[in-house]
Amino acid sequence: MLTATPFADLSARMTGRVVSPSDPGWDATRRVFNLATDLRPAAVALPRDVNDVIAAVEYAGANGLRVAPQATGHNADALGSLEDVLLVDVRELQHVSIDPVARRVRVGAGVKWERVVPQLSDFGLAALHGSSPDVGIAGYSLGGGMGWLARKYGLQTNSVTAMELVTADGRAARVDAENEPELFWALRGGNGNFGLVTAIEFAVYPVENLYAGAMFFPFERAGEVLHVWTELLPTLPDELMTWAKLLQFPDAPDVPEPVRGGSFTVVFGAFLGSAGEGRTLLRPARDLGPTIDTFAVVPPAALGEMAMDPPDPLPFVSTTALLSDLPRPGVDELVSAAGPGSGSPLAMVELRQMGGALGRRSPEAGARATLPGSLAMLSLGVAEDEASAATARTYLESVERAVLPYHTGDYANFVMEPADASSFFDADTWARLRQVKALYDPSDLFKGNHHIPPAELS
Ligand SMILES: Cc1cc2nc3c(=O)[nH]c(=O)nc-3n(C[C@H](O)[C@H](O)[C@H](O)COP(=O)(O)OP(=O)(O)OC[C@H]3O[C@@H](n4cnc5c(N)ncnc54)[C@H](O)[C@@H]3O)c2cc1C
Repeated sequence: MLTATPFADLSARMTGRVVSPSDPGWDATRRVFNLATDLRPAAVALPRDVNDVIAAVEYAGANGLRVAPQATGHNADALGSLEDVLLVDVRELQHVSIDPVARRVRVGAGVKWERVVPQLSDFGLAALHGSSPDVGIAGYSLGGGMGWLARKYGLQTNSVTAMELVTADGRAARVDAENEPELFWALRGGNGNFGLVTAIEFAVYPVENLYAGAMFFPFERAGEVLHVWTELLPTLPDELMTWAKLLQFPDAPDVPEPVRGGSFTVVFGAFLGSAGEGRTLLRPARDLGPTIDTFAVVPPAALGEMAMDPPDPLPFVSTTALLSDLPRPGVDELVSAAGPGSGSPLAMVELRQMGGALGRRSPEAGARATLPGSLAMLSLGVAEDEASAATARTYLESVERAVLPYHTGDYANFVMEPADASSFFDADTWARLRQVKALYDPSDLFKGNHHIPPAELS
């Protein structure tokens, strides 16, 4: 337990800032994407380079503090209590370099997807980013990373080719398939438990154009649309990934006019193929007669914001589950829980089609090689105050009950609360992760968003 907090010593060793609770910028510095999250670390260190990171790691170790690495705070809720924890926030590590010929990207650990997706698109390249341009590449990649091209190319973490990090003993290392391969394996899925990542290098893919967009249907047609969509899924190739969402938009100025304040059932899709073939594949959904249809031939940059995730921080509560499938009774239960007539205030009930490369284990993969199930569910309710949070939680519980018979696992990136991380992995992977943790961080200095404790070495 730290009795005195001489952060001035750490400040003196760093070129970046250290912000502690008595500093004027404290509340702004500890604020994260979910405004309902109240992060209270001992202090926040904001390194500007690797030497700053080493200073922060050494300082924490010498002063009885643990270290929680953070890039954007999108998964900060999962951290739990940060008492006696130094939050090392890498937001200022903003280096980006793109080699379009080698199809390799190297970014500082603070870089968000929005910095690289448009640039890559100009080169006819696409990365395996997810639904929100505001998410950090580091946390997304360390936990897995499921985006629009996941059925074709798998999880982003398995396209990572190297990571640069500072280990618990204050050593700067670059790890890849040849150098410290066990640590490289563990980092790809083991979240922030193994070190403080300063840079990530990853492969990107040649994509000139896609056939992609969204079909909006009235909210009232949720059951009908979801039935057609779930029946369509087994017929679709890996080149096409579709998501279905129940979306209830706020009546707010930053929401585009045609959907502002409205509730919809939406089928999204991204197809690595021609418009003609895409139209044929999606015909059963389109035959239902969408009221808005945005599908078009688009450059990869269009995928950055296609999911219409909230662009700005907001207070929310959420739930998630990976589902083996969702047969007709499951669709009906889900629509009863959160669809028309349910009274649900939930802003989003999202179902992502999985399968394809997400279910195929490659020998080169990291700890998060695959994800089980054929659908990923993520639901979210806005929590402006205690009453709205309680109401949203009630509806989220109804959603959980509706899909419970099909629940086959959980995906760490979507779990936004403290959880037992062993449940994300099979027994062998979990045991191996704990062995790597014992080798590289035996005193459990690093507090990742989903905790992996060191194995007890005999
Ligand atoms: C609006 C929204 C949309 C999302 N969409 C998707 C999606 O489409 N697909 C998907 O897979 N996930 C998605 N997610 C989940 C997201 O990928 C996770 O929340 C991820 O952990 C966020 O990473 P981050 O770096 O932005 O957040 P952070 O909270 O900063 O990081 C999350 C964790 O990663 C680790 N970490 C971060 N930086 C470092 C570092 N430098 N060194 C070591 N460890 C580090 C830490 O353990 C940290 O707690 C979404 C989340 C939100 C809120």
